[in-house]
Amino acid sequence: MSRNEELFARAQRSIPGGVNSPVRAFRSVGGTPRFLSRAQGAYVWDADGKRYTDYVGSWGPAILGHAHPSVVEAVQRAAVDGLSFGAPTEREIEMAEQLIGLLPSMEMVRLVSSGTEATMSAIRLARGFTGRDAIVKFEGCYHGHADSLLVKAGSGLLTFGNPSSGGVPADFAKHTIVLDYNNLVQLEEVFAARGKEIAAVIIEPVAGNMNLVRPSQAYMEGLRALCTKHGAVLIFDEVMTGFRVGLKGVQGLYNITPDLTTLGKIIGGGMPVGAFGGRRDIMQCIAPLGSVYQAGTLSGSPVAVAAGLETLRLIQQPGFYEDLSARTQGFADGIAAAARKHGVAFSAQAVGAMFGLYFSATPPASFADVMSSDRERFNRFFHLMLDAGHFLAPSAFEAGFVSAAHSAEDIAASIAAADAAFGQLA
Ligand code: PMP
Repeated sequence: MSRNEELFARAQRSIPGGVNSPVRAFRSVGGTPRFLSRAQGAYVWDADGKRYTDYVGSWGPAILGHAHPSVVEAVQRAAVDGLSFGAPTEREIEMAEQLIGLLPSMEMVRLVSSGTEATMSAIRLARGFTGRDAIVKFEGCYHGHADSLLVKAGSGLLTFGNPSSGGVPADFAKHTIVLDYNNLVQLEEVFAARGKEIAAVIIEPVAGNMNLVRPSQAYMEGLRALCTKHGAVLIFDEVMTGFRVGLKGVQGLYNITPDLTTLGKIIGGGMPVGAFGGRRDIMQCIAPLGSVYQAGTLSGSPVAVAAGLETLRLIQQPGFYEDLSARTQGFADGIAAAARKHGVAFSAQAVGAMFGLYFSATPPASFADVMSSDRERFNRFFHLMLDAGHFLAPSAFEAGFVSAAHSAEDIAASIAAADAAFGQLA
């Protein structure tokens, strides 16, 4: 028995499914999850000492690569001064000012400890601000595990073939209207019929939880116009895309101004940080200024914020995104070319430093397209890559991530491994 197998067997006795977040369990791809012991730069090492080039990047935060020395140093320095105070600190102001400076739609921002808290709080705030109950979300988008958002969601829920969660009262779910991603006619119809009830529309403005799906520019402009016309709060969930697709998020790429934005992952540099922010008049409805309650014992954690600030500093170096985006595009193009060589029906695309790999001839534009891709083939490809030492997300429904620590050689080696894998699949 390998050490990974031993640990998995032991974990399952005390932790449901052996994991603290479902996709880690390898349920959809099968096999034994790798228990990681260490990560550095572009690599992770498992309990058996095997090294992998990592394209999961802690599901997004590790944009500088794992354990970047100056981020680790910032954490160490902050920790010496105290782990948590439950009182405000200057660092939190610096973080707020940084976020506001980078994302012009953000006039005020509040820090929380996860992406889930950010979206959950943004929804409550939108409801409090508008005095309306209904929210619109899109099938296949994942916004964390708050009750109203676990309806036809993506990520782990798709992996388990059950896009809605048990334990969510029908009385909650009935306030969540689920529509097709990228379908403007449908959105227009719903606003025409129920516009006065809709508090908010929440969207992954580039979806990364049903694999990577890009909306059209026309769709995004239509979405913005409809929310404005009907007085609904437009929430861009940029927990994944924020500082991943570029320095100004998807809102910068598409030049659309949301009313609220949620952030997470990269702004914590690997530590637990989330944020929600946006229009001043909306943000002022939050306690202690307004009636919408939201709080957190560890919110704005001095250690986590130190990691986030150092990360934000490093990603603002000149040329950072140009370089990283070019490398990510090269990765996607290289893998697609390898598939073509072997005649495998496959496509790939990149947006900034995130990518989608699809066992379908063209990239998907909707949830239905995603569901029609060849998942069996993905699972075999995943294991061939893993055996060769290249760690992709263990599900056909997840986007992947390249970090600044991935060298041209790392990427070339992963493309060569994909070439060999496609050769076996063909
Ligand atoms: N929103 C999006 C778009 C996400 O990708 C995620 C997590 N993958 C979340 C929200 C939830 O964030 P967290 O896991 O930090 O609660």
